[in-house]
Amino acid sequence: MRRPFIAGNWKMNLDRAGAVALAAAVAEKSRGLENVDLAIFPPSVYLDAVRGAVAGSRLAYGAQNMSDQPNGALTGEISAAMLVDLGCRYVILGHSERRHILGETNADVHKKTLAALAANLVPIVCVGEQLAEREAGRTGEVIREQFAGSLGNLSAEQIGRVVIAYEPVWAIGTGKVATPQQAEDVHKDLRKILADRYNASIAQAIRIQYGGSVKASNAAELLAQENIDGALVGGASLKADEFLGIVAGVRR
Ligand code: PEP
Repeated sequence: MRRPFIAGNWKMNLDRAGAVALAAAVAEKSRGLENVDLAIFPPSVYLDAVRGAVAGSRLAYGAQNMSDQPNGALTGEISAAMLVDLGCRYVILGHSERRHILGETNADVHKKTLAALAANLVPIVCVGEQLAEREAGRTGEVIREQFAGSLGNLSAEQIGRVVIAYEPVWAIGTGKVATPQQAEDVHKDLRKILADRYNASIAQAIRIQYGGSVKASNAAELLAQENIDGALVGGASLKADEFLGIVAGVRR
């Protein structure tokens, strides 16, 4: 059984006081929720403050990005070891905003994934097609390309420590959610890619989150799909009750 995993990506939002208040509220309201893994992803400058706010709770946290390099003359970058030092368990890699706005490539995501794993962080690696690619019937091809370029060289042991997030770019921050069937089809395809590249038991073990305009009102039907193991949530993770409403949609 894959344990459901709901993650909240706060992106470049909130100030220090707002981040602490939101983290504390999510930590408090998620007490006693034993059947699901939960993590929040504040802006990196607030990770230390969030660490204090969630201390003693079961709410984990991580960063929205990191460098592929361990240290050195890389102005503005943050290493995996620095994230570990701040108590991070996870890091989001290859988010579509980094791929399509900031020009990150599959090769970049691959290097970052290896660096995260070497530091014992759990990477949440994002893949997903743009609207024109879906409309051209190229979704499967794009997902395969992103998987091969970002994750295809990992060993079986390494891939076993990765979480994959399927996030159709056209559904991120747009309010246009993929239908449960559209999402399930791609998740099933990803599991087949994993089975072909590795083996059936690895394919069955890896968690695949869906992301793209998930909110409390649509979470349950997405999370009810056989191959959807959780959600990577953007906008709706900025309100504790809405985020916990999504968590409530996890199949029991
Ligand atoms: C995201 O940022 O990963 C995301 C899915 O955003 P939203 O939920 O706002 O669409």
